[in-house]
Amino acid sequence: MEPRRGVVVVGSSFAGLTGAMELRRHLGPGTPITVVDRRDHFTFIPSLIWVPFGLREPEQITFPLAPLYARHGIDFVHGEAVGFDLEARAVEMEGAAAIGYERLLIATGPRLAFDAIEGLGPEGAGRTLSVCNLDHALDARAAWQRFVENPGPVVVGTAQGGSCFGASYEFLLNVRHQMDRHGLVDLPVTFITAEPFLGHFGLNGVGDSASKIEGLFDRLGIEGIANAAIAAARPGEIELVGGRVLPAAYSMIVPPFRGVEAVRAHPTLSDESGWIPVTDEYRHVEHADVYAAGVDVAITPPAPTLIPAGVPKTGYMSEHMAKVAAQNIAADLGGAPRRSVPLDELGAVCVLDGGNTGVILKTDRVLGDAEHPHLIAGPQAHWAKIAFEKYFMATRRRGFVRV
Ligand SMILES: Cc1cc2nc3c(=O)[nH]c(=O)nc-3n(C[C@H](O)[C@H](O)[C@H](O)COP(=O)(O)OP(=O)(O)OC[C@H]3O[C@@H](n4cnc5c(N)ncnc54)[C@H](O)[C@@H]3O)c2cc1C
Repeated sequence: MEPRRGVVVVGSSFAGLTGAMELRRHLGPGTPITVVDRRDHFTFIPSLIWVPFGLREPEQITFPLAPLYARHGIDFVHGEAVGFDLEARAVEMEGAAAIGYERLLIATGPRLAFDAIEGLGPEGAGRTLSVCNLDHALDARAAWQRFVENPGPVVVGTAQGGSCFGASYEFLLNVRHQMDRHGLVDLPVTFITAEPFLGHFGLNGVGDSASKIEGLFDRLGIEGIANAAIAAARPGEIELVGGRVLPAAYSMIVPPFRGVEAVRAHPTLSDESGWIPVTDEYRHVEHADVYAAGVDVAITPPAPTLIPAGVPKTGYMSEHMAKVAAQNIAADLGGAPRRSVPLDELGAVCVLDGGNTGVILKTDRVLGDAEHPHLIAGPQAHWAKIAFEKYFMATRRRGFVRV
């Protein structure tokens, strides 16, 4: 008899790791679970904003995946998925045999689409920095050391088509805090964003976020430019659509996000941006054996914006989606009752650090009208982020995802 194929999870970050551990909890040892990731370490991405300033070293915010999965009876494959054969129910791997599945959970996150804007990004001919992965954050550290010796204007922001607005606000406030520490007080600092107004966050605002952010920018002497689209990044400057040119000795721009190539390669797996359309069970709308969770899930913004701006898909939301998807996969295989959580019922808690202060955002609904949006600004947010990081690293490195 052919051995059972079981469940394959592609991607092992917030969504994939949570999904795999939940699958193991629901399904007995008789069901094989395999996790595939091109990276062999988990990275706590929210702390990457601290890496450029030497406030975190890689070993403080990463842990190896293979020992974790081995302890929980899950196979880990360190490799790149290059496509999906949905007829044969197999994940196609680069330089290795395809991996068959009974059910597939795709948790591949975003592709960082620097190539969508001329000169954007730290790779190739790129002119701007990024903190979206560990390598980029370490590059941004080297650039920061050069900047401190040879300072100039600073530009931080999120490009058109981006959705991770919180990260650029956090990085901006950390840069500003570090500039104060280094006595770099009179340099221009500009924030550019695809959001229709400051504090929109891709969510049409949270509570009184617009006035709070504007007040903060006034106090810190930061110029904020909403509805901004970048025409090109060149050495030492960023040109906006409309012609304004911003001098930039140090610039970190969160790029547009798209679905990853392996997903986009299949004609019916994703939409034109590479995002995967799912039901309230996080099951693909057409392919019943396929589930998705995390940033790779298609979410329509609550309202159109002048400049394309996506909905932020936070770590909290990614884990929530993964728990629901895992439970429904287990239900398909006879191991759990079914569960539905519509996308517009997902909530979010997000802690934005500002160096020595910050903002805690909580909304019971990311999409649509939240009944209880909360925004709490102050130094407690900085300490809350540090506490959250410690708690997250301590639990996830042991495979505890329910706490
Ligand atoms: C700078 C920054 C700061 C942030 N701060 C916060 C915060 O404070 N709070 C918060 O809640 N969220 C924050 N976020 C968002 C958070 O990081 C995401 O919500 C979260 O990472 C999404 O998890 P995911 O598993 O969907 O995708 P990802 O974390 O992107 O993981 C995708 C995984 O899939 C793997 N993968 C992709 N393609 C393939 C392939 N073809 N083959 C094999 N493996 C593949 C990748 O290696 C990766 O491990 C931040 C994001 C950034 C960029």
